[in-house]
Amino acid sequence: MSPRRARRMDPWDRGGRAAPARPLDGALRGMDRVEEGPDGEWKVRLVSGAGSDKTYRCPGCDQEIRPGLPHIVSWPNWTGGEGERRHWHTGCWHKRADRGPGRTRY
Ligand SMILES: [Zn+2]
Repeated sequence: MSPRRARRMDPWDRGGRAAPARPLDGALRGMDRVEEGPDGEWKVRLVSGAGSDKTYRCPGCDQEIRPGLPHIVSWPNWTGGEGERRHWHTGCWHKRADRGPGRTRY
């Protein structure tokens, strides 16, 4: 015989509670985020490139980042690191971590 339990509202029985992921949280506040890499902590800023007419050179691939191209600016997350800002292609920045330690920082 099965015990008769009161059927209460079961919190697990509501179609699965999707975790309220909030991936936009940081993005909405805008700006810099900190990424930890094999070579330390980096501040990372996404820039749209809009309104810029400067051409940068990406340290990842040594190619130019054309004006208007969305890309990444990063710099070491330590005092004075802002003076070491570098502009990266977005893809190059992400590939950077895959190359592992031992490469030059910039
Ligand atoms: Zn690049």
